[in-house]
Amino acid sequence: MNEKESQRKFFNELVAHGHFLPTGVPGVHGRGAEFEDAGMRLMRVIDGPSDADGAERVHFPPILSRKVFERTGYMDTMPHLSGCVHSFSGDDVAQAELVDRIAKGEPWETFMQMTDVTLTPAACYPIYPMCGEQGPLPPDGRRLDLLSWIFRHEPSDDPARLQNFRQREMVRLGTPEQVQKWRRLWMDRGMEILTSIGLEVHLETASDPFFGRGGRMLQANQRALALKFEVQTPICSDEPTAITSFNYHEDHFGSKFDIKTSAGEVAHTACLGFGFERITLALFKAHGLRVANWPEQVQKVLGYVG
Ligand code: ZN
Repeated sequence: MNEKESQRKFFNELVAHGHFLPTGVPGVHGRGAEFEDAGMRLMRVIDGPSDADGAERVHFPPILSRKVFERTGYMDTMPHLSGCVHSFSGDDVAQAELVDRIAKGEPWETFMQMTDVTLTPAACYPIYPMCGEQGPLPPDGRRLDLLSWIFRHEPSDDPARLQNFRQREMVRLGTPEQVQKWRRLWMDRGMEILTSIGLEVHLETASDPFFGRGGRMLQANQRALALKFEVQTPICSDEPTAITSFNYHEDHFGSKFDIKTSAGEVAHTACLGFGFERITLALFKAHGLRVANWPEQVQKVLGYVG
């Protein structure tokens, strides 16, 4: 079976078992109860080490201030994945024309104007302006924990490549030493968590899908400096799929959002993102399409059995 066939087969199985509810748009699916429940149980497994760390839990909507989006530099590197929210602000005449165009199946984007918000491209983005505005970090830095919906414009038939999905992110802000130590600690913890639910995983240095010719240089640089690591597992592509990623941003967000350590230096930041949907998909792929048939040990870790 080639890659396309195995992706179609897995997608059809997910739909047949009620895990994915197709909407007709590639990479945009509803989720059924059994799928959602498995993902939420995984989140509770992650709660343990996060609470032990004393991470602050914060919650943000899946949209981001456009001003913040502009400051992150996302358009410098990944414009092709972005999503900006547009709306209508014309008069009655323009509205009548707009409705008429839609009725005729004609293009209507010229009637729409940019709003003050974009879709959130990475769960951790709202953290940085917040921390910058709250003044210097405490001596031990900060640890934050959030679950957020993310948009990436990459329509695909790969069931593991969604346009809108959730990421559970741990974010660390502090001195370079604090951040690097935290990242090493969470690499071990991340691998432990994913191994405990019976997934065959390995850690790889990786790079982001930066845009265009300049992007290839950024990718090479990111790999050379080992700024990004991914935990990968086979799902339904020829190459294993990244289900968790570790990103060390050095002083990128610290300088963009004026985040200072207690000593007044520009703070370094790192984040760790567990892919809610991808890990859940990996579970259904590895252990079968019904939770009741999953290995007892895995059911135990996820709290299905005592
Ligand atoms: Zn992040």
